[in-house]
Amino acid sequence: MPELPEVETVARGLRLALPGRRILAVRLDKTDFIDDPAAMELRLPGTTVSRIRRLGKNLVVDLVATGADDGATNTLSLLIHLGMTGQIVIISPDAPVPKHTHVFLSLDDGRELRYTDVRRFGRMAILSNGEQERELAGLGLEPLEISAEEFRARIGSRKAQIKALLLDQSVMRGIGNIYADESLWRAKIHPKKMGSKLTSEELKRLHRAVQGILREAIQLRGSSVSDYVDADGQKGNFQLRHRVYQRDGKKCSRCGSVIRRAIVAGRSSHFCPQCQPAPKARAKAEKMRRR
Ligand SMILES: [Zn+2]
Repeated sequence: MPELPEVETVARGLRLALPGRRILAVRLDKTDFIDDPAAMELRLPGTTVSRIRRLGKNLVVDLVATGADDGATNTLSLLIHLGMTGQIVIISPDAPVPKHTHVFLSLDDGRELRYTDVRRFGRMAILSNGEQERELAGLGLEPLEISAEEFRARIGSRKAQIKALLLDQSVMRGIGNIYADESLWRAKIHPKKMGSKLTSEELKRLHRAVQGILREAIQLRGSSVSDYVDADGQKGNFQLRHRVYQRDGKKCSRCGSVIRRAIVAGRSSHFCPQCQPAPKARAKAEKMRRR
């Protein structure tokens, strides 16, 4: 599933191609992932892209519409969530159309924006300004912008497993399974440890690890673990730097122990049992000894 670095990489590609472009026409195939397909067909043609934003894992294409009668302008946005397998490319309309391509936007430079999504867990919606505020109000802080103090306040007070807190989009927006596991490994924290049990040193380490890993991953244009490609159709390279994610059974590059996998917070979690000691290991070991 594309997470913050992959969505940011797509956003950067779109920022090079889309601002100033007018959308001439909209063609839709399957529409079950679109909130209101008729609104897309009706409201997008004739609008001009003003900017591209990324909010967590959401892409927001801001658009300006000029009224045909009175010349008045109003703004609207196209929200895109790539779900599990969503891909956006900007390409010549003559290029072969891959299977599962469901949205085609014709642009005034002769190219076409195409949205392909094999599993269709993505989402598209046209939002007016008011709708945007409601839609995005529940999102947490941007992990690349959160300060060490805010991080401590949001994580250190919570009686929930740290893995669940990192994945919780109302705490921070944009972190998914890959970057949660990689950050916890770098910070040497077990995924099951409670947020409220983290020491201030651990909170500092984790804050640094989250931001460092996200920045490095953006630099390498994201991780291509399933279908992810950027707006030019290129794969990312950060998967080559993964230290624990989907590396169960392999050796930890820091200590040589075998990486394990366990379900934490309902998700497959990868960690090094040596570098990231389980929170209750000591209590359990003592119980065993007393028996
Ligand atoms: Zn290790």
